Amino acid sequence: MAHKGWKPATALVHGGTLRSQFGETSEALFLTQGFVYPTAEAAEARFKGEDEGFIYSRYANPTNDMFEKRMCLLEGAEDARATASGMAAVSSALLCFLRAGDHVVAARALFGSCRWVVETLLPKYGIESTLIDGRDLKAWEAAMRPNTKAVFFETPTNPTLELVDIAAVAEIAHAHGAKVVIDNVFATPMQQKPLQLCADVVIYSATKHIDGQGRCLGGVVLGTKDWIAEHLHDYFRHTGPGLSPFNAWVLLKGLETLPVRVAAQTANAARIADALADMKGVSRVLYPGRADHPQADIAAKQMSGGSTLVAFELEGGRKAAFAFENALNIIRISNNLGDAKSLITHPATTTHKNLAAGARAELGITDGMLRLSAGLEDGDDLVSDIEQAMAAALRA
Ligand SMILES: *Cc1c(COP(=O)(O)O)cnc(C)c1O
Repeated sequence: MAHKGWKPATALVHGGTLRSQFGETSEALFLTQGFVYPTAEAAEARFKGEDEGFIYSRYANPTNDMFEKRMCLLEGAEDARATASGMAAVSSALLCFLRAGDHVVAARALFGSCRWVVETLLPKYGIESTLIDGRDLKAWEAAMRPNTKAVFFETPTNPTLELVDIAAVAEIAHAHGAKVVIDNVFATPMQQKPLQLCADVVIYSATKHIDGQGRCLGGVVLGTKDWIAEHLHDYFRHTGPGLSPFNAWVLLKGLETLPVRVAAQTANAARIADALADMKGVSRVLYPGRADHPQADIAAKQMSGGSTLVAFELEGGRKAAFAFENALNIIRISNNLGDAKSLITHPATTTHKNLAAGARAELGITDGMLRLSAGLEDGDDLVSDIEQAMAAALRA
């Protein structure tokens, strides 16, 4: 049951559903490692690929299959593989097709573990990498080499919500024969469609908005049927980064409400960004949905929403940022994001503490910067919470 003409909200409720003989309403959870065959001949046919069907849950599982099909409908992708975490998706997507002697160009503003994969892990296997300022198209062009096989970036970036022009970078990459691999977590599949902007492979940490209720880790890699068949299929089967069927089931239920949650969280984020921009003690607000975002033109071109995240900087530096966080009553201190609960983090001492001070400064991660992920609470309550915490920060 896969209807390409469905609008996202419909696809996310019905897409990919595989009903068992019992006709259950809600998607079934196939919590099984393996599958039994009626005869030896049937097993042989299954292994030969002559009979379509499941063999072993490391390869594929009916609940995971529903999640992958639903994600394909949402993303407009031909095929997908669901992984145990966002990082399993990132590492699989890169390692499955790169080899020693290849080169990768990546934006330096990356999620911490993504940066480790590009900067530290890939070179161990003889895959060189160059990190650049992703906002600068000349830097992308200058970094390309004859052996550049992939470009990798996220947009908006974590935590400063900088943007990378997807279509422009794809044009540069493709002119040099490199694949475009995008981590689309911050924009969510609701607000940015990288494949329509000529990206080749899209990755999600489903841990974030796709679950959206803080329950489980998960990830997904989406691309063309050919790319997945040629590169990811065997890698995935034989190295085992697949998602647990239980988590696939949780994520399937998350997808049903994704459009509603992302819309409500974006409305809260926009409201918080506007409130912060007018508050004493705030030196800078970075929100892709605001006209004063340094790359508002790119946001308008490639995003259909302003994001559920807001970054802002307090004049009082780390002391004010800590006082602000400690005074919050509703918004919780956590490095997670995309959750129903509003969450805030101080990147310089948490998610980005492993970067050298110089690298942090280069990314604009100052001691006064905070990253807020807007949740599903009432917007009035969130703004009041921020106002009273700001008063505490100003007294600090
Ligand atoms: C969280 C995150 C990841 C990693 O996902 P996990 O599910 O935690 O492994 C990768 N990229 C971005 C942008 C993220 O926010």
